[in-house]
Amino acid sequence: MNAFKPHLAGLADYPYKKVDARIKLDQNESPEDLPQELKARALQRLAELHWNRYPELHADDVRADLARHEGWPEAGVVLAPGSNMLITALALGAANVLDTAPAFPHYKGAALAAGTPYQAVALAPGFALPLVELLSAMDGPPGVLFLPNPHAPTGALFASGDVAKLAEKARATGWLLVVDEAYQAFAGTDARPLARENEQVAILRTFSKSWCLGGIRTGYLLASPGVAAVVRALVPPFCIPAHTSAIIRTVLEAPGYVAPLLERLRGERARLLAALRDHPRWTAYPSAANFILIRTPDAKAAWEALLARGLLVRRQDHYPGLEGCLRVSVGTREENDLFLAAAAEAR
Ligand code: PMP
Repeated sequence: MNAFKPHLAGLADYPYKKVDARIKLDQNESPEDLPQELKARALQRLAELHWNRYPELHADDVRADLARHEGWPEAGVVLAPGSNMLITALALGAANVLDTAPAFPHYKGAALAAGTPYQAVALAPGFALPLVELLSAMDGPPGVLFLPNPHAPTGALFASGDVAKLAEKARATGWLLVVDEAYQAFAGTDARPLARENEQVAILRTFSKSWCLGGIRTGYLLASPGVAAVVRALVPPFCIPAHTSAIIRTVLEAPGYVAPLLERLRGERARLLAALRDHPRWTAYPSAANFILIRTPDAKAAWEALLARGLLVRRQDHYPGLEGCLRVSVGTREENDLFLAAAAEAR
């Protein structure tokens, strides 16, 4: 293994294990597929492309549509095959990486892979934002602070006033605050106003959740032109394939299917939370995202009991502070009914 940098020895892969089950509630995907009519339109568009030709260097055609959709300067938009790749690029370029513990695991994974110094601050009790500790960590040498809001994997929503305090600190210290808004649509929050008036704030968004396109792998960064230029240089050239561009351009032309889906999922989330409140052994935490974190007396036993009834959820009990925890994605009404029936009997 001498070909690799020494820090890569023993590096762990992303913590995901594929398990087959009838009802899949383990990856916070949309339970509904893209409407058939839009699939047909995207396929038509794809058929008309020259497949022998490379796509645009940085998906420039999609970038223009996305800039219009988000009301963001085109020079500040960066697309990649999943926001995961943008996290990889940011961690590669960052002088330091800071996040919370627990947090979406790829912030840490990307920092370790890049050999970038990494530090995490534990969430405050009740999964609250550890504001004082983060502000104090930002007194150290600058780098990139990844802050998922709504937070993953807890589902907690941080107050915009607190996020603004981190943004002010970033402005004063040279840190880059990256607000990861993967689940923003389910919360109705929006960090764009903050990022618009502060170049030390950037936003990550994805087509994987509310747009029903987890399989298509597209995420994007909204940042200042300067930050975007650095990140663009860190992602591989021509990394958005022509078929992906065709699909993303199609949904950006007809985004009307997203709002009704969000309404259904928010309704289902409220229904799940209300039903789980009465569970004799489990505690479900409030969530602003499309998943719910649940503390059980024994995560392994609860996970197995659900799987035995065909329901796949995700164990989260490997995180410090999340002992006994499972995470369930909000599914369709029928899936959620089956989940609640199985949950009522699980330990
Ligand atoms: N950020 C957060 C907080 C996530 O939960 C996820 C996916 N689970 C991602 C980023 C990555 O999303 P994608 O690569 O599919 O755009």
